[in-house]
Amino acid sequence: MNLTKAVTSIVAVQKLNEEVLVVVGGGAAGVYGAIRAKTLAPNLNVMVIEKGRPLSKVKISGGGRCNVTNGHFTDAKSLAEHYPRGHKEFRGPFFNVHGPMDTMSWFSNHGVQLKVEDDGRVFPVSNSSASIVDCLMSEAKRTGVSLQTGKVVTSASISSGGKFALKIQKLMNSVEHVEANYLLIASGSSRQGFSLAAQLGHSLVDPVPSLFTFKIEDPQLAELSGVSFPKVRAKLKLENIQRHLPQYTQVGPMLVTHWGLSGPVILRLSAWGARDLFASDYKGLLIVDFAPDLHLEDVKTILSRHKSQFMKQKVHSSCPSEFGLVKRFWKYLLDREEINDEILWASISNKSLASISSLLKQCIFKVLGKGQFKDEFVTAGGVQLSEISLKTMESKIHSRLFFAGEVLNVDGVTGGFNFQNAWSGGYIAGTSIGKLANGEFLGRDVSNLA
Ligand SMILES: Cc1cc2nc3c(=O)[nH]c(=O)nc-3n(C[C@H](O)[C@H](O)[C@H](O)COP(=O)(O)OP(=O)(O)OC[C@H]3O[C@@H](n4cnc5c(N)ncnc54)[C@H](O)[C@@H]3O)c2cc1C
Repeated sequence: MNLTKAVTSIVAVQKLNEEVLVVVGGGAAGVYGAIRAKTLAPNLNVMVIEKGRPLSKVKISGGGRCNVTNGHFTDAKSLAEHYPRGHKEFRGPFFNVHGPMDTMSWFSNHGVQLKVEDDGRVFPVSNSSASIVDCLMSEAKRTGVSLQTGKVVTSASISSGGKFALKIQKLMNSVEHVEANYLLIASGSSRQGFSLAAQLGHSLVDPVPSLFTFKIEDPQLAELSGVSFPKVRAKLKLENIQRHLPQYTQVGPMLVTHWGLSGPVILRLSAWGARDLFASDYKGLLIVDFAPDLHLEDVKTILSRHKSQFMKQKVHSSCPSEFGLVKRFWKYLLDREEINDEILWASISNKSLASISSLLKQCIFKVLGKGQFKDEFVTAGGVQLSEISLKTMESKIHSRLFFAGEVLNVDGVTGGFNFQNAWSGGYIAGTSIGKLANGEFLGRDVSNLA
């Protein structure tokens, strides 16, 4: 950028006695919060400043379908358990004010039909994220929210009059200076947003990736790409990390990809282990139990029984149905145990049966790195939750400063939980700002502030 070309202007955004809310970021949290504030306080000048395209993540989310929220976990306590960062804090009133059911009602009241899939994920009936984007955009327009794109909020400070003095950089390097009565930072995981929070005195937890797949270098496993397991128990053990959280063991579906392992179990492990995985350079062991509902002794018994029933069949071509394994994976296990392709069940030793049983119950994969999960990825880290009142989303450091969404040190597992954080936070912040703008009193919370 050629800074010598920069034009600096003070923008007259304020009519006499008009109060201004600037929302940094036109994502899910920012737009939802802006609509809520403007709905409650129609006289408030609500400006959303978005550096790129508004709602761009909503557009690409859920593989283009947008997993709006989750319909299976409706009480605050069980919902909170889906947030590796935020689970303690979210047990409180946060979701009671505006939870998944409220979000679903909001969208259906605004003309978007939603459906709850068997696993609890909620999508628009249209199966298109455009339904959500269009709804939010038209509601923002209808209520009179001013959505300004192609502009970046580059700095924030407190002016002598106690307002928020914001520097907004436009394309072509021109600069606007805006004074706002209220500031809502809903900048997602952008570094610029974190920097604004820091400029206003907030401390940050270092951002690290969450929700990714595990890279495993095993050419024979890669050949099984596409094979899925409806239920495994997978345990993560990391290099140089002694502690073991209960969440480092997960039960559920797993999928083989051409670079390693994915599926709900892996994504949940990646989320709960995000910080420790980062610290161990994404190196560790994954111990998978492919028969989680059977004891080791039961597995041995099943194999012995199969041996006596299918003596004349080749071990490679006859897998006990109790394990529910696809043939290709059964062959993979036998190859790992170096069981000859031609051997018959009649000839297999008890020692081999014991080692196959152990492998089924404790199959170890070496995790060598992290892969990508194209449907959803989020950032762990951000503004410390202890510095925010979750009742109002107001900063405990500056009154009239609010945060919502991924800019906070909050992230959820897959299933619609990340958007729910954005909707809930945006709604609560918008409500607080709307009330203040209407002259209502907001109790200040300065608890747990270091
Ligand atoms: C590919 C993908 C798919 C996903 N799918 C799902 C899903 O199906 N369900 C789910 O629950 N979650 C999903 N997520 C996660 C979800 O998208 C995020 O948790 C959510 O978008 C966070 O909302 P937000 O408003 O806090 O931040 P964002 O959506 O990131 O919005 C922040 C906005 O602020 C803007 N901005 C940042 N800094 C500035 C600045 N200084 N000035 C101006 N503008 C600024 C950014 O350009 C951005 O548009 C997905 C994520 C990805 C990457």
